[in-house]
Amino acid sequence: MDWEDFSDWGKKIADWAAEYHKSLPDRPVRAQTAPGEIAAQLPGHPPEVAEEMEQIMGDFERIVMPAITHWQHPRFFAYFPANAAPPSMLAEMLVTTIAAQCMLWQTSPAATEMEQVMIDWLRQALDLTEGYTGVIQDSASSATLSAVLTMRERATGFTGNRDGLNGKGALRIYCSDQVHSSIDRACWVAGIGQENLIKIPTQGPRHGMDVGALQAAITKDHDAGHIPAGIIAATGGTGVGASDRLGDVLVVAQHEDLYTHLDAAWAGSAMICPEFRQDFWDGVEGYDSIVFNPHKWLGAQFDCSVQFLRDPQPQLNTLKIEPEYLKTSGSEVTNYSEWTIPLGRRFRALKIWFLIRAYGLEGLRARIRNHITWAGEACEAIRALDGFEIVTEPILSLFSFRCPGDDAMQQELVDALNDDGRIYLTQGMFEGRKVIRFSVGQFDTTREQVMMAPKVIADVWRSLT
Ligand code: PLP
Repeated sequence: MDWEDFSDWGKKIADWAAEYHKSLPDRPVRAQTAPGEIAAQLPGHPPEVAEEMEQIMGDFERIVMPAITHWQHPRFFAYFPANAAPPSMLAEMLVTTIAAQCMLWQTSPAATEMEQVMIDWLRQALDLTEGYTGVIQDSASSATLSAVLTMRERATGFTGNRDGLNGKGALRIYCSDQVHSSIDRACWVAGIGQENLIKIPTQGPRHGMDVGALQAAITKDHDAGHIPAGIIAATGGTGVGASDRLGDVLVVAQHEDLYTHLDAAWAGSAMICPEFRQDFWDGVEGYDSIVFNPHKWLGAQFDCSVQFLRDPQPQLNTLKIEPEYLKTSGSEVTNYSEWTIPLGRRFRALKIWFLIRAYGLEGLRARIRNHITWAGEACEAIRALDGFEIVTEPILSLFSFRCPGDDAMQQELVDALNDDGRIYLTQGMFEGRKVIRFSVGQFDTTREQVMMAPKVIADVWRSLT
């Protein structure tokens, strides 16, 4: 392909993208595809000779598009959103075009310095005190793994990387029983082990960690000769939005001299709105590591996960490695690959720059406030459906409900709704019962699209009974 062809196809694909987005409300949200259907349409061997772009693009429309689940659909209420505001998509097109690998300052100074400034813009937007720095990672899972490795190294006097973990005793990490599975996986990968991740029961309207039980678990571990290494708090857990009382958890951590990480992957975005901070952010100052995903609710295209660090040194002491071929000469600069597990890095800060400038924080706040209001209205409409029960009240824009019947019936309704295609919902577990989650957050959704959901639920429910 020469650059003339590239330019032609680039324009065609930009037009295609705009048409695609306009067509979303008329498409089924979840792919209506059977396993194996796509693979069966793809040749088993790579072509030996070049094919025309017309043909490749034609096959893309014919084979790929029918099997896409549309995350940017205005009636996507499953999981949490993974948004892609148009200006952030444009920034990604530029990043793709430049195709720089931004592992070191010198491998693209603009990427590093833009990242430093965007971290600071977001620090201010989320009302964190000056002094927090940070790094953009691919996912909250990577940020959490970095924090868990830092807990491990700090608790072993930074000898784990050097000597391994043999003979070091049981390192213990504490979190609530509502945290995302990325915390479990980080503990597996870091060599902590599932048995040493202590899940504390939750209580209260926001399902926060029982802080008395947390302190008791740590004391018991000391008595047993275990080594407490860190606490992971959550603001906006995946199941039902469980949120810890951050200040109370921090008091325990400071008393025990434990490293702290906060998973606010989803709910962190809402903290750009001052009115939610008292309930969800009080006490956040002092957490050693905080992760939130602008790619979830804020509108930055996937992937984009911000990890704030109160002091980056413990994480650098854990992850920094500097072979000769990565050394750079000259004045002191930040080489962000020393802060993370992967060496190679994309230029992720550019989409944050485009996003915040194109909407302003006020524009982004307005969207988040609308989502929360409409989630509340949808919750009331579902509560009013005959025999339906709201199991967990809205936490920001997430609530959960049950239809009449047992757990199998809940799954039957979820599956029937997703086969119907007008909306997309997913299930969760709360206090041993299956619940249906309802999460509002698609960037361009409207009240009308959200309020269609209770009607579709009633409709599909009637067809099942
Ligand atoms: N934490 C929470 C609360 C989440 O909801 C999720 C994903 O939905 C994650 C962590 C993991 O996020 P990521 O896909 O960025 O690793």
